[in-house]
Amino acid sequence: MKIQQNYSLKNYNTFGIAATAKYFACFSSENELVELLRNDLCKTEPLFILGGGSNILLTQDFEGLVLANTIKGMEVLIEDNHSSTIEVGAGEVWHDFVLWSIDKNLSGIENLALIPGLVGASPMQNIGAYGLEVKDVITTVHFIEIGSGNSKILSNEDCNFGYRDSIFKHELKEKVVITKVIFKLSKTPLNKTTYGAIEEELKNLNLDPSPKNISTAVINIRSRKLPDPKILGNSGSFFKNPIIKTTQFENLKREFPEMVGYTISETKTKIAAGWLIDNAGLKGYRKADAGVHKNQALVLVNYGNATGLEIINLAKEIQEKIKDKYGISITPEVNIL
Ligand SMILES: Cc1cc2nc3c(=O)[nH]c(=O)nc-3n(C[C@H](O)[C@H](O)[C@H](O)COP(=O)(O)OP(=O)(O)OC[C@H]3O[C@@H](n4cnc5c(N)ncnc54)[C@H](O)[C@@H]3O)c2cc1C
Repeated sequence: MKIQQNYSLKNYNTFGIAATAKYFACFSSENELVELLRNDLCKTEPLFILGGGSNILLTQDFEGLVLANTIKGMEVLIEDNHSSTIEVGAGEVWHDFVLWSIDKNLSGIENLALIPGLVGASPMQNIGAYGLEVKDVITTVHFIEIGSGNSKILSNEDCNFGYRDSIFKHELKEKVVITKVIFKLSKTPLNKTTYGAIEEELKNLNLDPSPKNISTAVINIRSRKLPDPKILGNSGSFFKNPIIKTTQFENLKREFPEMVGYTISETKTKIAAGWLIDNAGLKGYRKADAGVHKNQALVLVNYGNATGLEIINLAKEIQEKIKDKYGISITPEVNIL
């Protein structure tokens, strides 16, 4: 567990921002992590826990210690006729776990195929796509408290999961390191095909719904729709879809009949932030190397040499324009550092 100095983070963030960490170290087990946390640097320097770097924006060099999680392992703990309970190391690549589960004929995360990042970050913002959220399959989250080095477990209920939200973004923000996550997956296929273009894609491929085929459809759709961070730096959806009062949505619909909204409760509607940005004429908008993707208005991109500050300034400009045009505040989904 060598602690390195002035370490480049360019290859550790999918935005491809050139920034450095004053100190950088990897840990591959809970014991290694606890040992690192005993180091004086952990008591004196700001800490940042890094997964795959696919949901962060570095706006400056990190003047502290970055701890990168490489804890591996996928193991079936319990199984019965209906389900399997699986323990997964926080350093496993999320998509590898999805493929592993499909290989074992388990269902529950096939719709979340190809989401970048590591398993440890998945409860953090309750990753979701194509009608599923990871909270639907998490039973417990295991973590180490940074302050005490103690190992703790939270049940699904205690994680306070919400839309792209959890206790790890609030009360436990920067206080814990998630080391493993326990999932319960079904032996009966869920076959959730109604969201997005899954049904259409299956039809085009002449495939029946099954976890494997749904994941294939999702992989195809995502590969067509989203820019590959290896080619064009980005961190997926930059903003969350705002949730507004249904009465406000109905008023806005009079002015903007095409506005896209999904009813989420009797009084609340979730608005497609991508539509708001696109309809404000910002799709493809570019300032130097920071831009709004030409096909996906919700995705901000680094055309090569954008700094984190240029990206965040672009994000602020978009937020102001959306507020002025629709009276709606949009907030970043991405963690800004
Ligand atoms: C092309 C693209 C598409 C995407 N599509 C989706 C999508 O469809 N749905 C979706 O929900 N997200 C999506 N994302 C966002 C991203 O993939 C997820 O948020 C993912 O879970 C981030 O994982 P990570 O390991 O890269 O986390 P990082 O970016 O490394 O970290 C994110 C946050 O989690 C914290 N963190 C990471 N690991 C730990 C840990 N072990 N313990 C404590 N804190 C930790 C970090 O400190 C940071 O605050 C997309 C991103 C990209 C680039």
